[in-house]
Amino acid sequence: ADSHKTPRDEIRPRQVHNAMFSWVRPEEQQNPELLGVSPAAMRDLGIKVGEEKSEDFRQLVAGNKLYGWDGEKLEGGYPWAQCYGGFQFGQWAGQLGDGRAISLFETTNPESGERYELQLKGAGMTPYSRFADGKAVLRSSIREFVVSEALNALRIPTTRALSLTQLPHSNVIRERVEPGAIVLRFAQSWLRLGSFDILRARQDRPMIRKLATYIAEDVFGGWDKLPGRLEDPANPTTSPLPKRGVAAADTEGPDDVSENRFTRLYREIVRRNAVVVANWQAYGFMNGVLNTDNTSIYGLSIDFGPFAFMDNFDPTYTPNHDDYALRYSYKNQPTIIWWNLVRLGEALGEMMGMGADIDDPTYIQDGVKEGLEPEIAARAEKLIAQVGEEYKATFLAEYKRLMTARLGLQNFKDSDFDVLFSEALDTLEALELDFHHFFRRLSSIKLEELATEEAREQTASVFFHKEGPPKTVDEKKARSRLAKWLASWRDRVIEDWREADSNVSEARENERIQAMKHVNPNFIPRGWIMDEVIRRVQKEDDIEVLDRVMHLALHPFEDSWDGQTINGIVYDGDSAEEARW
Ligand code: AMP
Ligand code: MG
Ligand code: MG
Repeated sequence: ADSHKTPRDEIRPRQVHNAMFSWVRPEEQQNPELLGVSPAAMRDLGIKVGEEKSEDFRQLVAGNKLYGWDGEKLEGGYPWAQCYGGFQFGQWAGQLGDGRAISLFETTNPESGERYELQLKGAGMTPYSRFADGKAVLRSSIREFVVSEALNALRIPTTRALSLTQLPHSNVIRERVEPGAIVLRFAQSWLRLGSFDILRARQDRPMIRKLATYIAEDVFGGWDKLPGRLEDPANPTTSPLPKRGVAAADTEGPDDVSENRFTRLYREIVRRNAVVVANWQAYGFMNGVLNTDNTSIYGLSIDFGPFAFMDNFDPTYTPNHDDYALRYSYKNQPTIIWWNLVRLGEALGEMMGMGADIDDPTYIQDGVKEGLEPEIAARAEKLIAQVGEEYKATFLAEYKRLMTARLGLQNFKDSDFDVLFSEALDTLEALELDFHHFFRRLSSIKLEELATEEAREQTASVFFHKEGPPKTVDEKKARSRLAKWLASWRDRVIEDWREADSNVSEARENERIQAMKHVNPNFIPRGWIMDEVIRRVQKEDDIEVLDRVMHLALHPFEDSWDGQTINGIVYDGDSAEEARW
């Protein structure tokens, strides 16, 4: 682009053909107000402390300044919006695309070597805005700003957020008129499964190949970084994740199905998503709108709308009020992500099904084409089913790893799944107990508090809400169910020590408590917390609350949040009434 202005006509919402993105210039904003930055995001992008106070920074994160634009020449690259499609609630929805997100440029942190694409959300219309306005309201921007950084601090793969900007001159019309905002967000990749869906719908085979090749070579860093051949997807023996870079060349797979490099790319994307959904399940996170356009190629938590963290454990909970069928409920997330990944498998199906013939020149030259040859389709189907086993195995390996750590154990034992994991969750559900409190409070329990049945029934109180067990359950039964679980848990902790060949000592006990507190958060940006922050920012002009909640989100495992004041904020309740701010 040799001009720094995009003609209005280019921005007009429309169907975009033969392209995967469009150049778009963010709207000019008057007097943008920088409300908050994430110090962790600054660090990860390699931005020096203090730079966020500069005028350049304020204009850049509001979309007013193009990086590298000196008035004549643009060095940093021209901003763009992605074209993608998607299956929404199971139905093909056609062209979607970045309707209110505009990517600015890519940057690599020289220290970590990590490359990120920086993007503004809420900076105006794009060709993909369809019937909408390209704007974001302050309310949802606050939620995205906080949750992106909270998930990252919980070590859950996610897109990130650098800054939150309020737009005092932008009134956004929703059910009522609301203030507008821009979040500067960043990720290793903003590609979605929907990026392939749109190409499949166009039957654009050369472009599918081009995009897949770009992802392998550029986003994942090379074909040799993809997983090696999997002997038995259902039984990954030594490591849950097969070694990387084992098979740089195409290899013969199980049966007669040749596993070529595009199958290995598919497996990489599948495994990344298996890992992220295992993290959501282990940490009680729900995206709420897991359409294929909101499912990341890179395996990140992405596009935060009506998301929520679990409060009282309820596997059928969905934070999406329009989700009557509970399609995107907590317990459905692993199934739905696989459903989405099968759509990706179908888009890549021809290339996978080609097996060792993948580089056959007649195939490559054969552009847009309808349907698949039956033989290729059958092979693709077989490969997708096989990768489905790998999805399950990878999900389970990661879920077990996380839950084992959350329960303070070093080694997973098969019986743990039923006796500890499922029984804990069933108990939480039956007794209407808080998911996050359970793990955090369990962390601090010393085994000596669990020596007798009576002691265990006593200790069970720590899991109750302040008002005790719910009216619908008998307190004695509730205590004895929890006591029974605590007994099994105690036995396993002791057994685990023996396996580790160390004594049940005071020192070992403290080590376990510290390890548990390091994986069981003391702070979670629950729905009511986000509501309270939004209320204070909008109604009371309390901007500092954003810094305070960001500080909590970035340090979720600290003990200090129990009863002590840090930065003037105390968070120790499970409702707004209990917490003091
Ligand atoms: P979502 O359900 O948020 O993932 O959005 C689905 C599609 O609608 C995406 O293509 C978004 O970019 C687009 N979209 C959502 N809200 C807006 C808006 N206010 N302006 C333009 N496009 C939007
Ligand atoms: Mg989206
Ligand atoms: Mg959204």
